Order: sequence, then structure tokens, then C-alpha cells
Amino acid sequence: AVIVPSDIEIARTASMKPIAEIGSAIGIPVQSLVPYGHDKAKVSASFIGSLDERTEGKLILVTAINPTPAGEGKTTTTVGLGDGLNRIGKRAMICLREPSLGPCFGVKGGAAGGGYAQVVPMDDINLHFTGDFHAITAAHNLLAALIDNHIYWGNTLDFDLRRIAWRRVMDMNDRALREIVGSLGGVSNGFPRETGFDITVASEVMAILCLAEDLADLEARLGAIIVGYRRDRTPIFARDLKADGAMAVLLKDAMQPNLVQTLENNPAFVHGGPFANIAHGCNSIVATKAALRIADFVVTEAGFGADLGAEKFFNIKCRKAGLRPAAAVVVATIRALKMNGGVAKSDLGREDVHALKMGCVNLGRHIENIRKFGVPVIVAINHFSSDTDAEVQTIRDYAQGQGVDAVLCRHWARGSAGISELSEKVVALASSGDVDFRPLYADELPLLAKIETVAREIYRADRVEAEAPVLEQLRTFEAQGYGGLPVCIAKTQYSFSSDPALLGAPTGHSLPVREVRLSAGAGFVVVITGEIRTMPGLPRLPSAEKIMLNEQGQIEGLF
Ligand code: ADP
Ligand code: MG
Repeated sequence: AVIVPSDIEIARTASMKPIAEIGSAIGIPVQSLVPYGHDKAKVSASFIGSLDERTEGKLILVTAINPTPAGEGKTTTTVGLGDGLNRIGKRAMICLREPSLGPCFGVKGGAAGGGYAQVVPMDDINLHFTGDFHAITAAHNLLAALIDNHIYWGNTLDFDLRRIAWRRVMDMNDRALREIVGSLGGVSNGFPRETGFDITVASEVMAILCLAEDLADLEARLGAIIVGYRRDRTPIFARDLKADGAMAVLLKDAMQPNLVQTLENNPAFVHGGPFANIAHGCNSIVATKAALRIADFVVTEAGFGADLGAEKFFNIKCRKAGLRPAAAVVVATIRALKMNGGVAKSDLGREDVHALKMGCVNLGRHIENIRKFGVPVIVAINHFSSDTDAEVQTIRDYAQGQGVDAVLCRHWARGSAGISELSEKVVALASSGDVDFRPLYADELPLLAKIETVAREIYRADRVEAEAPVLEQLRTFEAQGYGGLPVCIAKTQYSFSSDPALLGAPTGHSLPVREVRLSAGAGFVVVITGEIRTMPGLPRLPSAEKIMLNEQGQIEGLF
């Protein structure tokens, strides 16, 4: 067998071009780039603003089957396809989300692609990058500090201490901070109250940054954040604390897209937060729209399986930004489909056509779901070295039965040379005019009916279970004028249902709604289902234990 070097080893040997060269190749003049070192740059707001009149290229969504611990390779395929489109002579850009630092030290590893389909510098991108997440963390926690400070100095806004909705955030997997009591220690430390931390990507500030059209919209949305309620249940907004201006100041640079390059020196915007299970998890609207005006094809990814990532991409991001996706690529791996067919992780190396056939129902349902949005779809089989010809043929046959092409892709091992067939087919599909994009539900539908629509049409649940207080909460949001917002459902990524153990294509389940939170600034209602948490923990053996600096001062163990 061929020994392939690790992601970071490949990334380290990349021959990067100066970022100014990458920018100038796509018409961004050097004075419109704000460099962060030699290989990363932000694109100035004035340049972004100057693109308004241009026509938009075609938007390609990369999504996937339900993930398993076996790994699917959405980011890897997004990067590979971007390189592949450039290789066949198309002007293509890639739009990725910024990795969250915390999970790099857990099980998941980095999120800058893999093998010979990566964006670089991968270690920077995975860790502090250009500081966007730190800025979001600071802006979020500034608002938290202003709330407690306001209460300390007399609480003239009349916060009900039991109904403060704004928690704190940190970009770290730290279960110890999920539920805390703050302001302990005496009179000068304020009034003790229960609160807690979420991971930064789950912050409403992150969602606002991803959904805001420009700096003015950013500030308006920050002001519209509901931070808490009075005893009479009327909401208190961030603008009531005069927090919006200072928060926007902290986010000014973070709002600008980050330009980097692939291993093959093609341009990519890496901007906005991941985690489509607890957030909406899409590349920022500013970056996606800029890329669409710069390039003829833009390849972007949405997180986890299509039940979460694609659903939110279509129903939240595309709806809000007025985007019309031209095609969707569903990434499938034989390993993950075998797991969906009941094979244990330890047995994935063995050929098992029968289990694969069983697992294909998961792929089939995602294909059906995407078609409900009127977007044409193609399957990318992300090739692993253990895959056999019989297994590949099984997926091809299955997809054909669904009326869809399934194309074997070897970009992880070979870069753009391994993904030319998919590239050609994506161009044809996106140019076929065979698209009739529509979100799954109308703005006017009541909030509960929106949750039920996604549960029924996408998750294929029989019913939504919600206790009286949750239903009451939804009615209150509607009475306050927020009934027209879309819903952002937080659910496990492993299953169509809220039970991570139900693989394949389950039916007959119910969707238990535990809690609903209004994100009035972002413009959606977060619906928390099952056991999903907004602050992850670390596993028994965190990958942090293997991450270190070598004798040359280079990072080892990041993957
Ligand atoms: P996702 O975006 O779906 O979470 P990634 O693209 O980040 O997945 O890939 C997850 C991990 O799997 C990466 O470390 C990557 O190197 C690895 N990987 C992806 N595709 C392959 C492949 N074809 N063969 C081996 N490893 C792969
Ligand atoms: Mg990814």
C-alpha cells in the first residue's frame, strides 16, 4: 500500500504563493488586501462594496450523508472540487467556514480539508487564524459584562435576574463551564446568578456575523439581540444597554472575509463559523456573495449531514441572502454507508456489499430531501484506499436507481487530477437550468408548524413533542412579532432523528423539543432537541495529548 503523509505533513510542504498574487489573480488589488503575515489576508470592506453591480456566478453546495466517526470529507471535497473546477479552466472560488479551535484538541481534528485537497496554512487556519473567533468571543463577553455591570449599578432597566438570556462563550470544549453560578464572593462582585458558557460558534454574535450584509446591518442586528426579560416578560435588547456600537467596533475586522489558497494555489474565502448541529453553520453571506461576484463557480460547504447543514443553508442562509444555489453535491463514503448499514467501526476495512446496500438508504433519503428544495443533485464518492470495486459499483447502481449520478473522486490522494469527472459533471448540472430553488416553508407559517415541517419532511419524524412551556414560549415569540423567522434546529448530527444511535433512514420517531431560544439579532429561533449541547466536552483521550512542537518549532499532531 502507498503510505500517504499526514494532513499537516502535506500542508507543511505546500508551495504557497504570496497572498497578494492570489488576490491579484482574481482581481483584488493589493491595496484592497489587509495582509495577516504572508499567506493570509482580509479583503477590505470598500472592495467588497465595489462588487455590488457585478453579476453572480453559480453557487454549488457541498453537503453529505449523516456523518459517522469514520469521517466523510466534505471540506476535503469542497476544496478538491474547487481545485478541480480551476483545473478544467473554470474561474472557481471556494468558500469554507473557519475551524473552531476547541475541537482541534478533541476527536474531530482540524477543518481545513485533508490529503492533497487542503487550504493552507492549515495550522494557522485551524488555530488562531486572523483572530475572528477571538473577536467574536470578546464582543459576546463584552455584552455579558455590560449586563452584570448594569445590574450592579442599580438595574434601572429592571432585569429579572432569573430571566437573563445572554450567557458567556469561549472557543474551547469545556464541560465544566456548561452551568455555573457567577458573581460569587460578596457585595463588590454583584448579584449571584446562574449562568453558563457556550462554545463560541454557538454564539448569536457568530450567527450575526455570518448573516449580516455589511457593517451597518451588523450593528443593527447586534442591537436587536435580546439579552433578558423583565418581570413582566418584556424583552431587554442589547441596544438598551448601548452595547451595539462597541460590539461592532470589536467585530469590524472580523466581518471582512479571509483570503487563503489551496495546495494548488487556488483562491478560497475561509470565513464564518462551523457547527451546523447547534448553529446554522455556514460560510458568511459577505464572503459567499463576494465570491459569487468574483468567480463563475463558487463551491461552499454546509456542516454535517444534509439534514442539518443543507436544510439550514437553504432555509436560513439562502432565504435571508436571496441566494439561488445551482447544484448540490452529496459526499458519501463507503465506510460511512457501511456503518449506516450496521457494520462496526473496527470492521470497516473488510468488503461488505450487503451492509453497504443496507446503508445506502441514508444516502437515498438525503437525495430525496435535497430535491424538495428544487436543487439538482450529484453524489461524490470520496474514495478511501480500503474501498473495493464491487462496493463502488454498488453505490453507483443505487444512485442510478434514484436517477442521480455517483462519481468516484480521488482528490484526497491526487488533488485536482483525481476529481475531473465530478468537476465536469458539476459544471453541466449547474448549467442545466434544471433548478427551481425554494425554501421548504413560507415565512408566514407559525413557528411550531415550521418545526413540524422540517421534522416531517427532512427528519421523517411522525410528530414533534414539546411540553407546555415550550409551546407557550413559541406563542410569546409570535406575539412579540418574531413569528416570521425561520427555525434553526439543534440536533445530533449522527441520525435523521434526535437519537444518535438510530442510523440508516429511520421512520416512526418523534422529535423531542427541549428548549427554544430566540435569536432576534441573527433572525432565527433556535430549537434544541434531544440531548444536543451548546458546549461540547473533550473525549477520554483528547487529541491535545498528541499535539506538540517538534525540534524545529513546527506543530506536530494536528490533523
Ligand atoms: P468533514 O468536512 O466532512 O468533517 P473533512 O474533509 O474535514 O470532513 O475530513 C475529515 C478527515 O478525514 C480529514 O482528516 C481528512 O484528511 C480525512 N479524509 C477525508 N477524505 C479522505 C480519504 N478519501 N481518505 C482518507 N482520509 C480522508
Ligand atoms: Mg468540514
